[in-house]
Amino acid sequence: MSFQWNRSEVLGLAKEGCAQCRGYGLRDTSKTAQPVPCNCVFRAIFRACYRKFRSCAQGDNQVSTARLESVHGREHKRTWGLKNEEFMADFVLVAKRTLNEADHKLFRFHFLLGADWKLCCKQLGMDRGTFFHLIYRIEERLGRVYRELQPYALFPLDEYFGGSVRKMIDDSPDPERPKGLVFQMRDTAKLSARRSLRAPLRKAA
Ligand SMILES: [Zn+2]
Repeated sequence: MSFQWNRSEVLGLAKEGCAQCRGYGLRDTSKTAQPVPCNCVFRAIFRACYRKFRSCAQGDNQVSTARLESVHGREHKRTWGLKNEEFMADFVLVAKRTLNEADHKLFRFHFLLGADWKLCCKQLGMDRGTFFHLIYRIEERLGRVYRELQPYALFPLDEYFGGSVRKMIDDSPDPERPKGLVFQMRDTAKLSARRSLRAPLRKAA
């Protein structure tokens, strides 16, 4: 089943005065019968996630790094999660998985290593127009994936950080379901367990 976008969420994220959606966050395309979220919405999501990523990387939230998450399922369990690190890992790994090689290289240069447009253009042999075109495309692509990611989207951030671990078991008894399935690690978190992430961030561009 494809992801269902919520109209009011889209409206809240749309860019005021956007030329494509006029700030409504939805636009018609010839390809689909239903209007789709505007690219300005996807970019807003990406940028919010990127701001959070930077703040995590700079250790702005050290005190609340580890938080106690609780799950109310058939079995009541608690676990310690390193939310900030998990978020950073998800941010990076989803990008790697989503983007093609060339786009990922630019993503790494600009967003992770902090290279500005001049340096990126020089290093990657492109002009300014191409650089911004590609950056927009990357932001749109990733913003969408960060929001649509199942079962744990990176956005909305308050849900990612504030929400408890969603219960993986419902309340109806299901004898077939293995008992150990209370926690199902997100696929990216599995990967995140095997390396410590230290993004070499520069000062804000
Ligand atoms: Zn728009």
